Amino acid sequence: MKNHDIYTSSVSSVSLRCVIVANTFYWFLSLIGLYIDFLVVAKRSPFFSRSKIRPRQYISGKDRRELILLCAFNMLLVAPLVSVPLYETLWDRIHGSKRLTDEDEWVWQIEALQKLPIHFLATEVGFYTIHFAMHSWPSLYQHVHKIHHRFQAPTAMTCVYAHPLEFLVGNLLPIYLGPIITNAHPLTSYFWFAAAIIGTCKGHSGYRIFGCADYHDEHHFYYKYIYGGIYVLDFLIGTMKVSS
Ligand SMILES: [Zn+2]
Ligand SMILES: [Zn+2]
Repeated sequence: MKNHDIYTSSVSSVSLRCVIVANTFYWFLSLIGLYIDFLVVAKRSPFFSRSKIRPRQYISGKDRRELILLCAFNMLLVAPLVSVPLYETLWDRIHGSKRLTDEDEWVWQIEALQKLPIHFLATEVGFYTIHFAMHSWPSLYQHVHKIHHRFQAPTAMTCVYAHPLEFLVGNLLPIYLGPIITNAHPLTSYFWFAAAIIGTCKGHSGYRIFGCADYHDEHHFYYKYIYGGIYVLDFLIGTMKVSS
């Protein structure tokens, strides 16, 4: 694909549709999360009150407004207007005319069994490495990653509450990496973006889902350890320190 229009080409609009899928799941889950928070604060849901991981920590009205503003900036402006042209160009440069399109057959043995595991691995390596670097380099933490750590007891919406540069490089790039590396079919890419946003909303939910708290909640509470998304590298490297 050469000299195409990133926003209208049938191939190149794949990234834009990935971002639309991510936005749809993100806002749906985030608003559910805020509604559950409201029920807990109003003492109208004993079930969710029991499931809240940090029972006495809530996001104030002022903090909620700032949370929505930055998350909307990232998801509605940075994702479609910066990440789409940037990573779409990279995707095209690497695969050129071999890029899979909607017209290509979706071969489940290849897409689901071979490519998706690579997506998990690529995202984990990318996310862990960048996240670990932001905690290891004081000025990077102070000026960039500290914003994401504003909420010690997160809610689903806070998963993209981050400096726009961190959102672009530390959050979106690791998600794009898998489909770019494997030349994923568009359907696989849409599924992957949906799965990634569901996973990170779950990690920041602030509630025990199906009885289990997410390890990422511990990372927000202690500001260290547990740097990965699916924790494979944390187990292997030895950064999987969890409170009892
Ligand atoms: Zn962190
Ligand atoms: Zn987080």
